[in-house]
Amino acid sequence: MLRISELKLPLDHTPEELAAAVADFLKVAAEDVRGFTVFKRSYDARKGVMSLVYIIDVDVANEDKLFARFKGDRRVAPTPDTNYYYVGQAPAELKQRPVVVGFGPCGIFAALILAQMGFKPIVLERGKEVRQRTKDTWGLWRKSQLNTESNVQYGEGGAGTFSDGKLYSQIKDPRHLGRKVLAEFVKAGAPEEILYLARPHIGTFRLVSMVENMRAEIIALGGEIRFEQRVDDVILENGRIRGVKLADGGEVLSDYVVLALGHSARDTFQMLEKRGVYMEAKPFSIGVRIEHPQSLIDQARWGKYAGHPILGAADYKLVHHASNGRAVYSFCMCPGGTVVAATSEEKRVVTNGMSQYSRNERNANSGFVVSISPEVDYPGGPLAGLDFQRELESKAYELGGGDYFAPAQLLGDFMAGKPSTKLGEVEPSYKPGVTMTDLSRILPDFCVEAMREAIPHFARQIRGYDLYDAVLTGLETRTSSPLRITRGDDYQSLNVKGLFPAGEGAGYAGGILSAGVDGIKIAEAVAQAMLSGR
Ligand code: FAD
Repeated sequence: MLRISELKLPLDHTPEELAAAVADFLKVAAEDVRGFTVFKRSYDARKGVMSLVYIIDVDVANEDKLFARFKGDRRVAPTPDTNYYYVGQAPAELKQRPVVVGFGPCGIFAALILAQMGFKPIVLERGKEVRQRTKDTWGLWRKSQLNTESNVQYGEGGAGTFSDGKLYSQIKDPRHLGRKVLAEFVKAGAPEEILYLARPHIGTFRLVSMVENMRAEIIALGGEIRFEQRVDDVILENGRIRGVKLADGGEVLSDYVVLALGHSARDTFQMLEKRGVYMEAKPFSIGVRIEHPQSLIDQARWGKYAGHPILGAADYKLVHHASNGRAVYSFCMCPGGTVVAATSEEKRVVTNGMSQYSRNERNANSGFVVSISPEVDYPGGPLAGLDFQRELESKAYELGGGDYFAPAQLLGDFMAGKPSTKLGEVEPSYKPGVTMTDLSRILPDFCVEAMREAIPHFARQIRGYDLYDAVLTGLETRTSSPLRITRGDDYQSLNVKGLFPAGEGAGYAGGILSAGVDGIKIAEAVAQAMLSGR
């Protein structure tokens, strides 16, 4: 197969025009093109004209001649092999089964790949199965009732289940493991388009049934998924893991334990630190969610093409390096979505964003956050960042007035340094509700300063971003893990053999796709360790 890139067509082209453009590009007769598949489709809005840009894999006659003809042209190359190859196969008689703690994207992929290789993993997940969990999560949003073990952070599917389901990442991926993640998602019910869109997303409803289908596959392959099984302790012996202890007093023994905990498992991090598992504090970011009318973002990004069905709701990505040395940036942008209450702990307020596949809610929302680092902002031990988060989340709860209401402010008032008393044209989507106030009372001064400096820069890129009535809802504190459970080249903890820290909570992923990719790598490392008896 031959891959062509940078093939540009107008937004409204027909399938026939695409086929003709492929033949045209290669300067071959239409009948020489035996078939083709779209590998990636993105768009290009330069010079005010919106085009679709394709990367296409073509099955074409006289391939060798074409390679010779296009020698030196970087737009034509052999199609790379993106198939996934398993690193091993479990023996028929398993001496023991690996344990995976956590069933978010990382734990799901660790368990799935282990199961596909025949290792019959046992998954221990503290939260409930996804349908039950959905009810509990809505309990917080609708009735201010938080279930501390079943919520946006905990339960089947992990943190990514109630999300925008964005499925792209900037990780280096020479082995195309991201492709394996996407292919498994499609098998589990995701739309095929995620395989070729440059910025695919799935939305919440689909994620729920996909997670169930992936659970079914793991079970069919001999794995087990045990819900409401919180790991409260690790069993260690001479620097090696021997198993885990559960909240209900039970034990699960194994010399191979994957920890795919997510960034919110604060009690588990505390336990691991007490047991001497090596970890270190790491940087993350804090700030607020910002909401604008989606139509404003569409207009700024797409201009006359705003509302075109092929483009959908527009997103954005913004960064500003402030004069106080802080990076201010947009985080986890959710077009046509809602701001959600994302705490897992009582009397704390944390924001995040989600959307449905259609992305047709009124507002665009995104994290508007500032980088912080352990050296400067939370010096101390590995858990200092976690204490810092908790303090901010408690302050947000208080400023919100209780009952999980979030403190909010109009952007114009934030810029002018005055409290907000009422809403303007943007109706915030956060549930159970917001209290209009002054967010600078709880954000560190350096954040307020850097955020105020960033807004005019962002408004130069997205016209109207500085809309007076845009709503800031706080606080966004869980942008990534505040710590790293450091691992060596063998993917095992630096000081506990057989313990495989993985995914976002361990500091090795940020987002659904990268957590899934890390899950695959961890499954491979576990398989290799088990097969070699290490
Ligand atoms: P998690 O998904 O956090 O999963 C960890 C699991 O471990 C949880 O299910 C938890 O219950 C379980 N667990 C924790 N402690 C224990 C214990 N002691 N015993 C047993 N089980 C335990 N990313 C994107 O790429 N795109 C998006 O659009 C997006 N939107 C998001 C929206 C929201 C509202 C949130 C909260 C996150 C969003 N993210 C998004 C981030 C993404 O969800 C995470 O990066 C990803 O889920 C991390 O995967 P993980 O498997 O490492 O951890």
